[in-house]
Amino acid sequence: RRFRASVQDIPTTPTSPRRSADHEPAGESFTNATDADPALPEVREWAGRLVSASPAPLTSPVLGSVAAVDEVVARGRDAQPAWASTPAAERAAVLRRAADELEARRGALITQMVHEGGKTIDQADPEVSEAIDFARYYADRALELEGGASLHADGARFTPDVLTLVTPPWNFPVAIPIGGVLAALAAGSAVVIKPAHPVPGCTEIAMAALHAAGVPADVAQVVRADEREVGRALVAHEGVDSVILTGAAETAEMFMSWRRGRPGGARVLGETSGKNALVITPAADYDLAVADLVKSAFGHAGQKCSAASLVILVGSAGRSERLRRQLVDAVRSLRVGWPTDLTTTMGPVIEPPTGKLERSLTVLEPGETWLVEPRQLDDTGRLWSPGLKDDVAPGSFFHLTEAFGPVLGIMYAKDLDEAVALQNATAYGLTGGLHSLDEAEIDRWLETVEVGNAYVNRHITGAIVRRQSFGGWKSSSVGPGAKAGGPNYVAQLGTWAPDGVPA
Ligand code: GLU
Repeated sequence: RRFRASVQDIPTTPTSPRRSADHEPAGESFTNATDADPALPEVREWAGRLVSASPAPLTSPVLGSVAAVDEVVARGRDAQPAWASTPAAERAAVLRRAADELEARRGALITQMVHEGGKTIDQADPEVSEAIDFARYYADRALELEGGASLHADGARFTPDVLTLVTPPWNFPVAIPIGGVLAALAAGSAVVIKPAHPVPGCTEIAMAALHAAGVPADVAQVVRADEREVGRALVAHEGVDSVILTGAAETAEMFMSWRRGRPGGARVLGETSGKNALVITPAADYDLAVADLVKSAFGHAGQKCSAASLVILVGSAGRSERLRRQLVDAVRSLRVGWPTDLTTTMGPVIEPPTGKLERSLTVLEPGETWLVEPRQLDDTGRLWSPGLKDDVAPGSFFHLTEAFGPVLGIMYAKDLDEAVALQNATAYGLTGGLHSLDEAEIDRWLETVEVGNAYVNRHITGAIVRRQSFGGWKSSSVGPGAKAGGPNYVAQLGTWAPDGVPA
């Protein structure tokens, strides 16, 4: 195994709405999985104001040529030495202020995510908390790396990368981009971030928070580059030491091919696709299992690398009419709509489905049947009711292919070992879940499941900084593999050399 699965060790405790960890001692507890309780009138009033506010105009420059890429890279590299030689305590203080500045922009960030990203408030609000948690957590990591101090028993010294490029996905347009930027800043690197095409405003607002906190403009630049040749020039640039990518496995392949052969190696740190399953055994609490499954499969319309797109029912759980009825009812009860309507519980997909998602939503593979058939609900092509397909066959398209949308498939296993074999059969290994109250089953599952994030009796999305550092295994990961929001992430953004030897 390349690294241990991160296992949920502390139950998720509900806290007050719209709060991140700022009421906790630094580094002690992180809470980004919490959300505002829509039943509270003050939360409804707050949410109403946010969805009716206008999104912010875009501010970042669009790079139109390879020469413009060269300029941005040169500016970042020129600015880095001063940042790297700023004492870690000062850089950490800037990152902590960034947490406060993000908190101050929570409303604007949520409004932007609603409008640009189609996120419902219950999804957007905890995402802001996650970004804040990254700021405080990585501030502590900056202190650990102080002055190139050694984390290695053999006395190796750390030299930060001069320039890191962050290329985030559109599905988490605040937490993932800002998490990458904060990690690079904590290491002492300068950063260029290229936001994902449909959601640049979310990243721009978050970056404005960092600049307001005191990160120099040239140390953390945000640029748009929508033309493929310009984007490629940025990714392949020899002045870019590392690229932090979160995206499809195919994109990671492409980035690697562009960067292979560089002196110092390709240096792509990627968290990529997943095909994630939640296993339910007869020893599960079915009520809890169904609630966690629906949250994992249909939160943000299933558009998460971490989403559950398979449920594997073990033994008599697969024959339980009660469990099946509960699941069908729960899926049917989702209210699909635009996030500006506060009664919506499942929002739109980012664009009309094509490719793998279209096939997953519209085609039954041999042997499959619909328990709940997905339907396109309007002319935009973006509103789809959720789908639940039964009898997904081992080795079939839907068993092995990431869907990245609102569709869940049921598989059956005679025992736990067979369930884990089905779970491990895909090329990926990002998240996985088990619902069982049997200690022996839990131990056995944790020993054998091949995923980066293994969750027991919990939903399988919404990893919490520090508690559940996030990252994949097998084809879900590219590069050295330390997980985001975990102890070694920042230390990957540089080079290590024995004491006295220049890196
Ligand atoms: N970190 C997110 C989670 O735990 C998933 C990120 C992604 O979809 O890339 O749900």
